[in-house]
Amino acid sequence: MRISQVEAIERLQRGEVVAIPTETVYGLAADARNAMAVAKIYATKQRPANNPLIVHIGRIEQVNDWASAFPPLAQKLAAAFWPGPLTLVLPAREEVSMAVRAGEPTVALRIPAHPVALALLNESGLGLAAPSANKYTQLSPTTADHVEAGLGVDIPVLDGGACQVGIESTIVSVHEDKWMLLRPGMIDAAAISAIAGQPAATQTEVDLPKVPGQHLLHYSPRTPCLLFSSTQAMRDYAQQHPKSAALLFSGDLNLTAKEIHLPADPALAAEQLYAALHTLDAVQAEIILIESPPATAAWDALRDRLQRAAYQPLPAK
Ligand code: AMP
Ligand code: MG
Repeated sequence: MRISQVEAIERLQRGEVVAIPTETVYGLAADARNAMAVAKIYATKQRPANNPLIVHIGRIEQVNDWASAFPPLAQKLAAAFWPGPLTLVLPAREEVSMAVRAGEPTVALRIPAHPVALALLNESGLGLAAPSANKYTQLSPTTADHVEAGLGVDIPVLDGGACQVGIESTIVSVHEDKWMLLRPGMIDAAAISAIAGQPAATQTEVDLPKVPGQHLLHYSPRTPCLLFSSTQAMRDYAQQHPKSAALLFSGDLNLTAKEIHLPADPALAAEQLYAALHTLDAVQAEIILIESPPATAAWDALRDRLQRAAYQPLPAK
């Protein structure tokens, strides 16, 4: 159900959930200060309660409403990348609801770079908890249609067009003057190091929180997926399994079923990734064959999503 921005704000202020556009993926948003509203996110997504949520804010001054410390290193990263697809995990203020942080001593914060999301945040004045607007472990939505296909047509959606980054934010945990990458994204580790002036800390150097909620099976189509390191192996498999669909970064398989080629540029490929997987999921193939993206750092975030999408047992023969 498509709703206007005015209605979205009214619903969020009443403690309801609304699917909203961001530059990464569509989020299922609710007032992060309202534990009942946050509970509706978990219920709608069927997400386990030990998987914390990212709080979206409209202005950098609001960091101090949520975090008990905003170390200079985190300030530098925020100045460089906000609004944008970077989430900072910082020590939480005591009053931040356990529903949002799932029992962690930390809170995850981000200012999204999407005009509709920013208008919503700034006009409502709310902090919005907003994980991806899909059922737990399933594919993330990058259009309003994807949201309705995954959560049903009754879910209120504010349509802001197709998401331009296309995959979830980079998550960086900051502890005093050390940082760690908790989830790869399109802002890569090299870009963070360049601004931080130092590489990521190792787990032994500093007791940063391990990342909760990063399950091996995640971002998955309903159709089983298999990841291949060579197109030759893919072609051999496809010849024996003609009802395969395929996602490729090079070459052709010339399958009878559908195949989609992603662009050679990682930013463009990320933008199109979930839409391609949604399309392949809809063709009723027996299996989706996925070519591993190039083995370079620029493809780390896509490789992470594809490895998780493909992490499931093969169907019985
Ligand atoms: P998403 O599912 O895209 O909303 O991202 C949520 C993810 O952010 C969680 O699964 C965690 O990995 C990470 N996260 C959120 N809040 C925290 C937190 N307080 N501490 C550590 N990681 C967090
Ligand atoms: Mg998600």
